Amino acid sequence: IASGHTKMVLITGCSSGIGLSLAVMLAKDEKKRYRVIATMRDLNRKDKLVEAAGDAYGKTLSLAVLDVCNDESVKQCVNDIKGRHVDILINNAGIGIVGPVESITIEEMQAVFETNVFGVIRMIKEVMPDMKKRRAGHIIVISSVLGVQSVGFHDVYAASKFAIEGFCESLAVQLMMFNIKLSLIEPGPVRTDFEIKMIQEVKERECPGADPETVHYFKNLYLPSAINIFLAVGQTPKEISKHIKKVMETSKPSFRNLTNSLYAPIVALKYADESGDLSVNFFYHMLFNLGPVLHYTVIAMRFLSFGFLKNHSVSPK
Ligand code: NAD
Repeated sequence: IASGHTKMVLITGCSSGIGLSLAVMLAKDEKKRYRVIATMRDLNRKDKLVEAAGDAYGKTLSLAVLDVCNDESVKQCVNDIKGRHVDILINNAGIGIVGPVESITIEEMQAVFETNVFGVIRMIKEVMPDMKKRRAGHIIVISSVLGVQSVGFHDVYAASKFAIEGFCESLAVQLMMFNIKLSLIEPGPVRTDFEIKMIQEVKERECPGADPETVHYFKNLYLPSAINIFLAVGQTPKEISKHIKKVMETSKPSFRNLTNSLYAPIVALKYADESGDLSVNFFYHMLFNLGPVLHYTVIAMRFLSFGFLKNHSVSPK
């Protein structure tokens, strides 16, 4: 199938959410510009993807096993690709975690870092040397707006996304020498079944080790606000996929790419005040004072973004 103009795209974590949606969208590209290798840890979870891919399955979309936390699995998957040739690597696999730090074990935190940080680095280490030799390639990392500006109770997840952003910031500079592009995608909330389910589960979970006051703030202020934010401003995996596709198809893609323009002013706050106090105070008020009247929080976000968007465009639009 691959012709001179077809790009080999390797995507991690394709059994659900953004990875599934993106794999299908690229495989169904009207101009047939992509040959997608959609990977997942367990091929028993392929049905949703195969069904969504329809006719593209076996033509422009193929499946492969890949666990980003396993050296052998990563090596095997890349070795199985003809000439180990990957034009575009999309690091999508990731896991979320939310809750009071006291109630999260170090092992649970390490698992998040294993996937969100070392998983991505392992993939890049495997694919990058061949890209360097060819002096061509595009590495895309699905980070998060929480990789730029964190908010309460997402401490560990944000730390993992900050870590990978730091890694990429450094690497992007070196890769320019080899004509390899590196782009971070920074979605705000994305409405996947997984996310809503996770929040519901967390709501019912005990928070052992955390004091009652913190648990109260978490469950009765933070989580209801988070659910409302997801429902009010959350994007769909399809919207994120469209954004990623645009980044892939831009000749000079930006390094950072927010997908939700409502979050642009939040990022701008961070850069507006190098002491960081503006952001910390803003989020404190948003969470603990405005949280119960979230309606106004969303209005505030819209209001802030209106002024901002008059002067800025959010890449790559
Ligand atoms: P998701 O849970 O549906 O997708 C993540 C996928 O990664 C799953 O299919 C999971 O099986 C897979 N995965 C986990 N560990 C893996 C491993 N070791 N090896 C291979 N695959 C593994 O959720 P999603 O929202 O589609 O998440 C995709 C990416 O988007 C993640 O990196 C996530 O951090 C990021 N993101 C999500 C949101 C959101 O609100 N959902 C917001 C910003 C960023």
